Amino acid sequence: MSGSEPLAARVPALEPVPVEGCAICGAASNGRDRRRHRGDISGVRQYSALVEQHPHRSTAQQDGDQ
Ligand SMILES: [Zn+2]
Repeated sequence: MSGSEPLAARVPALEPVPVEGCAICGAASNGRDRRRHRGDISGVRQYSALVEQHPHRSTAQQDGDQ
């Protein structure tokens, strides 16, 4: 079990947190918010899957401050 909490408190723990600086994450997060406002749960899940499944560079795990 992982007890890590998402950075944004308004994001439910079950949803993947978009990576800062990632264009795909940003677009998926925006789309997810729009779907959520419309009450489109299936759309929200699709965008969450986008955030979770697309690859990131290994630097995402490090605290890159460059
Ligand atoms: Zn991303």
